[in-house]
Amino acid sequence: MQHLPVFLDLRDQTCLIVGGGEVAARKCAMLRRAGAKVKIVAPALCRRLAEAIEPAAIEHVARDFQTADVEDVALVVAATDDGAVNEKVSQAARARRIPVNVVDHPELCSFVFPSIVDRSPVIVAVSSGGASPVLARLVRARLEGLLPAGLGRLAKLLGRYRDRIKQRIPTFSERRRFWEDLIQGPFSEHVLSGDEAAAVRLLEDRLAGNVSVTGAVYLIGAGPGDPDLLSFRALRLMQAADVVLYDRLVSPEVLDLVRRDAERIYVGKRRNYHRMRQEEINATLLNLAQAGKRVVRLKGGDPFVFGRGGEEIAGLAAAGIHFEVVPGVTAANGCAAYAGIPLTHRDYAQSVVLVTGNLRDGRVNLDWAGLVRPQQTLVIYMGLTGLDQICAGLQSAGMSSAMPVALIERGTLPDQRVIVSTLAELPARVAGETIQAPTLLIVGDVVRLHEQFAWQVTAGD
Ligand code: SAH
Repeated sequence: MQHLPVFLDLRDQTCLIVGGGEVAARKCAMLRRAGAKVKIVAPALCRRLAEAIEPAAIEHVARDFQTADVEDVALVVAATDDGAVNEKVSQAARARRIPVNVVDHPELCSFVFPSIVDRSPVIVAVSSGGASPVLARLVRARLEGLLPAGLGRLAKLLGRYRDRIKQRIPTFSERRRFWEDLIQGPFSEHVLSGDEAAAVRLLEDRLAGNVSVTGAVYLIGAGPGDPDLLSFRALRLMQAADVVLYDRLVSPEVLDLVRRDAERIYVGKRRNYHRMRQEEINATLLNLAQAGKRVVRLKGGDPFVFGRGGEEIAGLAAAGIHFEVVPGVTAANGCAAYAGIPLTHRDYAQSVVLVTGNLRDGRVNLDWAGLVRPQQTLVIYMGLTGLDQICAGLQSAGMSSAMPVALIERGTLPDQRVIVSTLAELPARVAGETIQAPTLLIVGDVVRLHEQFAWQVTAGD
């Protein structure tokens, strides 16, 4: 290990910055964030630094550096572009054993500034020991994505209970188990989703010895297929799951991101068995949660868009089971973006309607007249089986037979295909193709933009 990582308490201590440019300004801001006072020695200041001066906390000494400037400071930073000055600062500080950093000159430094992820009071510092600051920054960016925005809030809340828990649970190992259980369970999710009151209730209940089971159900939108479209929150919960229930629409790439040890239950629906199967799913979710499991219910797209999410949480709500709904990118958004078809556009469409073209008793029951409006985009889910009826219904309600329609097959997946046609011609066009589920229809003038925006070559064009 080239450097020992430590976290310095610099509150109200004076730190010296030599130099008055942009880099000095950034270091000054960083030291101020840590509560330090700053003395800047530089003949002149850049505008940003000049504006940052606060009489009580940032002092400017307007002259060249002198060795005596390092007396009585806790830390020294040299940020000048004059090699001789930088060297002089480094020597003066080192002679007095004061930590010194010379920006971009590792050989003159006794410490380096790491790249940081700030979720105060949780702070992650990354360093490449000066070998590649860009690499360290990229590692940092990855960590930014992994660590929830509310981590700091979680740490603060835990901190408030530390003394109390220490008194309540005297042995170290039991205490550690208590914290681990708490932090890995619904308590944290409450805090991270912004419901601190629920978290506190749960903790107080546990302290009072009232609660033994802490199961929960997370209804997660897995998006249309491309795993990159998952949200951070979805990923976090997937990686903490004890068991996952998923159906046909969840892509194998998404499923791969679920915690390795989690039990996987396929609940794919077969056509005509919807009702019974749905009840079974609801019951399974309930039973697993009541047994104390962290259950992830993965649904294609968004759980609340043609996803029966409302039905799945109804039973949980009635039974008092903790549940959360994590939104996903719905097929309409995913397909539109990946096919280069904006759903609204100043020149073509001011509204979007999402409908299901599902057959009921062999018929598509839609309010055709209501769907045929000028400047409106129509997105039809589950529309392939009833395609003939849909195209005929829209035309009989007055939509132009030349209205462009896009059929997007396996949207956002590597084998996505877009077939562009018109209301009059699409059924015949589709009859001549082998179409793979799932597919989505986009009807409206916005489809004309596909040619201009899509990078994907459409089949048969
Ligand atoms: N809750 C989902 C929709 C479930 S209904 C969502 O928000 O997207 C299932 C229908 O969604 C499919 O029949 C199809 O019409 C559409 N769909 C889902 N994923 C799709 C994809 N990758 N490409 C095209 N259509 C998709």
